[in-house]
Amino acid sequence: MNFEFSPEDDAFRKEVQQFFRDSISPQVAHYGYVGAHPPPREVLREWQKALSDKGWGAPHWPQEFGGTDWSPLRKHIFLEELLNANGLDYGWQGTHMMAPVVIAFGNQWQKDTFLPPLLSGEVFWCQGFSEPNSGSDLASLKTRAELDEDGTHYIVNGQKIWTSDAMIADWGFFLVRTDPTVKPQRGISFLLIDMKSPGVTVRPIISIDGGDGLTEVFLENVRVPKENLVGEPGMGWTYAKYLLEKERTSSAFIYFNKRELEKAKAIARAEIVDGVPLLETPAFSRRVAEIEADILGLEWSVLRILAKEELRDNLDAVVSTLKVRGSELQQRVTELQVDAMGPRALRFFDHDTLAGTAPSEWDDLWPGIMYGRTNMYFFQRASTIYGGAREVQKNIIAKLAFGL
Ligand SMILES: Cc1cc2nc3c(=O)[nH]c(=O)nc-3n(C[C@H](O)[C@H](O)[C@H](O)COP(=O)(O)OP(=O)(O)OC[C@H]3O[C@@H](n4cnc5c(N)ncnc54)[C@H](O)[C@@H]3O)c2cc1C
Repeated sequence: MNFEFSPEDDAFRKEVQQFFRDSISPQVAHYGYVGAHPPPREVLREWQKALSDKGWGAPHWPQEFGGTDWSPLRKHIFLEELLNANGLDYGWQGTHMMAPVVIAFGNQWQKDTFLPPLLSGEVFWCQGFSEPNSGSDLASLKTRAELDEDGTHYIVNGQKIWTSDAMIADWGFFLVRTDPTVKPQRGISFLLIDMKSPGVTVRPIISIDGGDGLTEVFLENVRVPKENLVGEPGMGWTYAKYLLEKERTSSAFIYFNKRELEKAKAIARAEIVDGVPLLETPAFSRRVAEIEADILGLEWSVLRILAKEELRDNLDAVVSTLKVRGSELQQRVTELQVDAMGPRALRFFDHDTLAGTAPSEWDDLWPGIMYGRTNMYFFQRASTIYGGAREVQKNIIAKLAFGL
């Protein structure tokens, strides 16, 4: 199998690198680098506009809606370089989740109304699927949407939870139950809700890393115009599955893992133990090598899928494998950063106490690396939960790969 990129792909990579060098402001680079959840809205808007002005605002959309005709391999190169250059990879709920569903199943009015402001960075979205008792078992969701007497509006009642970024979102795409009398999957619809509607209440959930990117969303007699229903009533489950299948290989988090490993190595290079850089000690360098090899193996699996050289029947199982492996690596890499830093990684040490004391060009990442909006360790404990919990992914692998 040949994994060399073609000269055209190499030229494309150079073009992408040049664009990022020219257009990523220090502000964007800061938030891209530290991985804040979420970055401030104005920074997200600035970045999305820069991408859109170049015609790269949503590379994976069809060209007629402002996307590109890039091959999967080129999208991979684009994302890899984006993270290398500390560009922002954020706002997925709108561009990567809602938009593909509206493009595939929405009507012309919905496409005209919802896609352009997303591309220009004017409007942000959140995803309202999970509920307090419906996570992995999503089909059991209870939020109800009933047509009012004149049949012009849905009246929505219920509660969503773990809704990322709802506090900065203008709109949300929600799974709601429109028919409680049929098989659970058949009674679910896909509804677009203006988050400023009366009856919508967003409350932050403070997570273990101190962040407030997660929320719970309460919907009390929210009136939603019938036009905001995407596709057919009762087809929401099918659309949601389509949405979750769209980004098959990004679940490996290759770019993230590579970059965070570089941070861990930089920390270990600067930490001196008995006169030797930690990175050069046998125990630590072995751990780095193990993780490096695992990331490389995972990257090759992704490239193999992208190159379509080994497409098997059970692609779902392959994607679940990437998710399990990629999310576990996210946790291992951030553990490595913490271990490299030792006690100063503890949340007890905050930026004010230790700012300026770390021997690294990435000073702002050092003190209290386990904690805080800008640091990754605690947040990545969730990577084996969101986007499909690890055990559920393993069930999929067992069923599809081994016929269990
Ligand atoms: C950081 C973060 C961001 C999120 N963002 C969003 C968002 O924007 N929008 C949204 O809608 N949701 C979001 N979620 C919710 C996420 O999709 C759910 O947390 C996830 O689907 C798991 O559901 P749950 O939390 O109800 O856990 P459960 O489904 O109750 O699972 C609890 C445990 O039981 C295990 N388990 C469950 N079922 C099985 C089974 N059949 N076999 C074996 N083990 C099983 C799971 O693996 C897990 O370990 C987010 C979650 C997190 C942590």
